[in-house]
Amino acid sequence: MLTPEQFKELLKDNVINLRIHARGGQGGVTASNLCVEAFYGYGVCQPLFGAERMGSPTESYVRLSANDDLVRSNEQVYSPHFVCVLDPSLLGEINVTAGLAKGGWLIVNTTLNQEDIQNIVGRTDINVATIDATRIALEVLGRNITNTIILGALLRVGPIFTVEALADAIMRRFKGEIAGKNVAAIKQAIEETCVYDIGLDPDLTMDTKIPWQQVFPGLPGFKELDKAGVWYCDETVIEIGSNQVNTGSWGEWDMIWDEEKCTDCAQCWYICPDFSIIREKGEDGLWHMKGIDILHCKSCQNCLEICPVEAISKRLKQGPASCAAPE
Ligand code: SF4
Ligand code: SF4
Repeated sequence: MLTPEQFKELLKDNVINLRIHARGGQGGVTASNLCVEAFYGYGVCQPLFGAERMGSPTESYVRLSANDDLVRSNEQVYSPHFVCVLDPSLLGEINVTAGLAKGGWLIVNTTLNQEDIQNIVGRTDINVATIDATRIALEVLGRNITNTIILGALLRVGPIFTVEALADAIMRRFKGEIAGKNVAAIKQAIEETCVYDIGLDPDLTMDTKIPWQQVFPGLPGFKELDKAGVWYCDETVIEIGSNQVNTGSWGEWDMIWDEEKCTDCAQCWYICPDFSIIREKGEDGLWHMKGIDILHCKSCQNCLEICPVEAISKRLKQGPASCAAPE
């Protein structure tokens, strides 16, 4: 295991990548924020919510370095040095060790032992730390929220920041009694973490940035991004988006598109977080806006706000929208 001094030296010219797996409502994103707040140098964190509902698998990513030039990217962490898993049921559902560097640390809220975990994830070249965070959460906090407790286990095997700095970050974020209880839970977690060290450390000097084209090789048009950033593909409609999840059912508004006013500027297409702006390739060979996918549009209203000609408006949901997707 690397010491705090070794981490400090390495972080002068390198980045630590951390990925946190949780379920919606368990506080994985808060944990990633706390890491950045507790770190003495520079840090960024981003969440990935997926289906955006309680219990759905979520991911959050953290990059930390003493060199601010190295923590500017905002993409997902594909090659983490540390992975924290807040919910043990995710072990069998998600490939939590995807991209985890050889010698990296898998830190899990579980009562399973190292052998069980290695059997589940199919890796013997990584270090494992386990903590019964659920029990500690119920004992100390009185509710099953394990996000701060897993950070105690992280500190035990990866002293990237100090427990005092983490406690300060928690006191700033939470108020009153609950803040003190979280700090107590972290200290208990540091004591109780089971460490299975294989004697290898993650190589922080390894370049972990992966060009996104290599990550999603099947994304339509990924080879032709040089065409002014516009995605072209052979099919008539760009078939991307959360087609597995009817995210539109959560929205409060139907978004209404006015074809007459629309100038085809595509700003709404770029800003839509759920790929719910439908475009089709016309006879002129260019892509044109064709409507809004109401099955997936979740009423965030980004498109309405960005449209420069007010071609998008909204109305409270009341049956089929006039801007329905083509059949
Ligand atoms: S409101 Fe607009 S930007 Fe938001 S999800 Fe719907 S189509 Fe996309
Ligand atoms: S932002 Fe407005 S004008 Fe531009 S493509 Fe979308 S609806 Fe049309």
